[in-house]
Amino acid sequence: MNLKGIGASRGIAIAKVFELKHYDIKIEKKSVSDLNKELTKLDQAINKAVEQIEKIKSIAAKNLDAEHAAVFDAHIQVATDPMIKDEIVSLINNDKVCAEYAVEEISKKYIEMFSSMEDEYMKERAADIKDVCQKIIFNLLGIEKEDLTSINEEVIIVGVDLTPSETSQLNKKFVKGFATDIGGRTSHSAIMARSLEIPAVLGIGNITESVKSGDILAINGQTGEVYINPSKEVISKLEKAAKAEEELKKLLETFKNKPSVSKDGHKIEIAGNIGSPQDVPGVVNANGDAVGLFRSEFLYMDSNDWPSEEEQYQAYKVVLENMKGKKVIIRTLDIGGDKTLKYFTFPTEMNPFLGYRAIRFCLDRKDVFKTQLRALIRASEFGKLGIMFPMIATIDEFKNARAFYDEVYKEVKKEYPNISSKIEVGMMVEIPAAAVNCENFCKYADFVSIGTNDLIQYTMAADRMSEKVSYLYQPLNPSILRLVKMTIDGAHKNGKWAGMCGEMAGDLQAIPILLGLGLDEFSMSASSILAARELVSRINFKDAQKLANLCLEADNEQEVIEILNKNSNW
Ligand code: PEP
Ligand code: MG
Repeated sequence: MNLKGIGASRGIAIAKVFELKHYDIKIEKKSVSDLNKELTKLDQAINKAVEQIEKIKSIAAKNLDAEHAAVFDAHIQVATDPMIKDEIVSLINNDKVCAEYAVEEISKKYIEMFSSMEDEYMKERAADIKDVCQKIIFNLLGIEKEDLTSINEEVIIVGVDLTPSETSQLNKKFVKGFATDIGGRTSHSAIMARSLEIPAVLGIGNITESVKSGDILAINGQTGEVYINPSKEVISKLEKAAKAEEELKKLLETFKNKPSVSKDGHKIEIAGNIGSPQDVPGVVNANGDAVGLFRSEFLYMDSNDWPSEEEQYQAYKVVLENMKGKKVIIRTLDIGGDKTLKYFTFPTEMNPFLGYRAIRFCLDRKDVFKTQLRALIRASEFGKLGIMFPMIATIDEFKNARAFYDEVYKEVKKEYPNISSKIEVGMMVEIPAAAVNCENFCKYADFVSIGTNDLIQYTMAADRMSEKVSYLYQPLNPSILRLVKMTIDGAHKNGKWAGMCGEMAGDLQAIPILLGLGLDEFSMSASSILAARELVSRINFKDAQKLANLCLEADNEQEVIEILNKNSNW
């Protein structure tokens, strides 16, 4: 291997390098005297950018699914955003500067604002603003970018970065993959690459400096490995891996229409986690049994102000409709900790993960909570809705949240008689206090879903954001397994179901143990669903139960792994 980046879209590609031209334009601060002329130029450049985006959107609609093509609706919104435009116009008028300078200055401000956000997803939105503003600037300067739709031989595109617009135009027949200096797994380019099923390695750092046109490049979009002019041995190793991957993909395809059931007939649910309505097609394509977690906070983080009842209602409705009667669990606002808002300042705390967040915030800000509950309850008309509260630590918190929900439900029912009467109201088990006493919580909650990302950080007292203590993220540690068992048993004693929506639920190593512990619902990223279903189909539930019992008695995570290796006969 010569270089290493972030594996952003699975698959192996070997092809000739196509160097994407990088435009490093230095924009001068030019003074202008005819302000009207400059403002007309700006209008024309914006209008042309909107036309360009519309064109890209229609190409994307053919290449991608509708939901991913809808990214370009967001681009049109940026291009026509009155607030951004007002700021550009004011700068031109006040400082008497050329339009391209004003666009660059204002876009820089927004790009910096998004880039400095802690949340990876929000950080990547800076790329969308950059994409749109670059189009407007190029239009002002009369620069025409190369047309990627005209590529007609097999290549791997190499560039500093690939904008979402560029990615969406790639023709899979010729573009075998792409490799870039910057970018991460949650960038829109990465999301689109996965949707197009084009292998991609991003964030390599220096790929553009390391290759030239005509070089042969090999990339592994899963591991992030990059080989420049690879040897025959490397090519044959990669080709073997590609073949194995292809075979696995074909095998997994056959699991699309199979039930999620163990070899000896024990039925479970394998569901998908989503962050927005745009993620639903991924779950539908993988034939997920349900949506086990919709992280509703992304709606809030993507917004410039508290999202209105109507905006939220539309988003929840789309998800429920597209899941066509399959269960959808929507988590109420889980804000705070590492998730911040542009329009609300959280108090400064020593330990924000232990502070004013999630249900603690919602019970304090009933106005915000009520808007969300109203939207959720109204949307229940369109499918099988479950609602869950995040970060529940005490039974009183759950009872208070549920009582408030009941009050809001009655109010909404009067206005909208068609809403469902069967909404399940459950809670996340993310705090050890809830896990150890789950049996009593489940006298009140309709279901529980274990959030292992937080449950592990709180149990091990190890900040999930800290690399230094990341070795303590031990999903297979017997202490965690025992908490999971207590949670599941507590739910079952009350006739309730127990799910899991933390990363552990999609971990192929953990799944046999979780199955044996009696977990009813496994919710994971859509790309893991079929592999999980295939694995479960090879396991006897009885064997998994024996395995789980052995693991619970182990001294440490390493011993659990050894037990797993010794006893996995599937
Ligand atoms: C969790 O804590 O496991 C969870 C699913 O929630 P989040 O990762 O959004 O905190
Ligand atoms: Mg959590």
